Amino acid sequence: MTDIKSQTREELEARLKEWGEPAYRAGQVLDWLYKRRAANWDAMTNLPKPLRAKLAESFSLRVLELVRKQGAKDTTQKFLWRLPDGALIESVLIPANPALYGEASDRHTLCVSTQVGCAYGCKFCASGLEGWKRNLSPEEIVEQVLAVERWHEANAETSSSSTETSAASVPRSAFRAPRLINNLVIMGMGEPLANYDNLLKALRLLNAPWGGGIGARKITISTSGLAPQIRKLAAEPEQFRLALSLHGATDEVRARIMPVNRKYPLAELTAALEAYQRRKDQLITFEYILIAGVNDSRDQTKPLAALASRLRAKVNLIPYNTVEGLEWARPEESVCEAFLAALEDLGVTATLRREKGGDIDAACGQLRLKTERERAGMPPSQRVR
Ligand code: SAH
Ligand code: SF4
Repeated sequence: MTDIKSQTREELEARLKEWGEPAYRAGQVLDWLYKRRAANWDAMTNLPKPLRAKLAESFSLRVLELVRKQGAKDTTQKFLWRLPDGALIESVLIPANPALYGEASDRHTLCVSTQVGCAYGCKFCASGLEGWKRNLSPEEIVEQVLAVERWHEANAETSSSSTETSAASVPRSAFRAPRLINNLVIMGMGEPLANYDNLLKALRLLNAPWGGGIGARKITISTSGLAPQIRKLAAEPEQFRLALSLHGATDEVRARIMPVNRKYPLAELTAALEAYQRRKDQLITFEYILIAGVNDSRDQTKPLAALASRLRAKVNLIPYNTVEGLEWARPEESVCEAFLAALEDLGVTATLRREKGGDIDAACGQLRLKTERERAGMPPSQRVR
């Protein structure tokens, strides 16, 4: 059954018109979904009961089930969700920050997942470890925002004391609080541009004034570098931001850790990014994880600076988060600082993520893997830290 949270305003209006309903009903339904974050049809008290029944017969209204949560209020919080088919995905809520992506804000950034697992198999990444299972539907992407806000609203007073919550249920009440989340980073599990149509539909629902109302410039899509889809995205009217997971400034280094580089080597990727840049009036960001002995040597800084200056890109350096069972490690702090300084000397705008506590700040995919491994009874040595 089609889920109501995959419907645009036009689609919903057309359906209601078929049913002989007045035009304003679509706006009422959308308000319940996106402004009040209703978790069931009964909450929509200003809709006549027969209409609610008809909606319930025609559309599902699925909410995400919270399996596990890590992190206290005012810190980074990770949410592990169970989907109707039992698959697990993560979202990460990051409190107000001097905005690594988009502008500084007093609200929150949410990191959302777009697939269950990932087919791209980057050697350092927990999300890719167990392969790709399926794409998320538009409503499963949209619902991550609504479910986190619903949770936050219901736990506003209690969540500061606990650092881990198990199997708490998402409350069913409806709210009218302002949007908690005003920045989105599409950096959770999965390769967003490999789920292009569902991603775009979800982002349009989250961006629409009658929907999520989150500005396109406050939505950053991170990709491992699917060149054809980057060109396709360039042709879309919205000004979504783009972050490229570069992680290597030469084909040799990049291909060693990112198999996707064999399909779309740097020359092709850079050409696609230039095409993107020509169509958009905003800057691209390079994500560069620093991995000891792999991509942290000074000989990467020159080609990295050359790429950054050619694309007018800003570079975010991120010390690697260890994934247990994988051989990679983060470099010493002094190595990270020296890498940053070398880039700055070459005229690059760069930042280095310095916060401690890699556990909770770890990239998406790790809580899911940990949970799945614990459930499968694997020894701790094979679990993710
Ligand atoms: N598939 C997309 C988006 C999801 S990954 C992409 O690759 O861009 C989001 C970011 O987390 C990417 O930059 C990815 O390289 C990074 N990442 C993955 N595993 C990580 C780890 N263990 N430590 C630090 N960053 C990691
Ligand atoms: Fe997939 Fe991105 Fe992880 Fe690579 S880094 S395996 S593309 S989620």
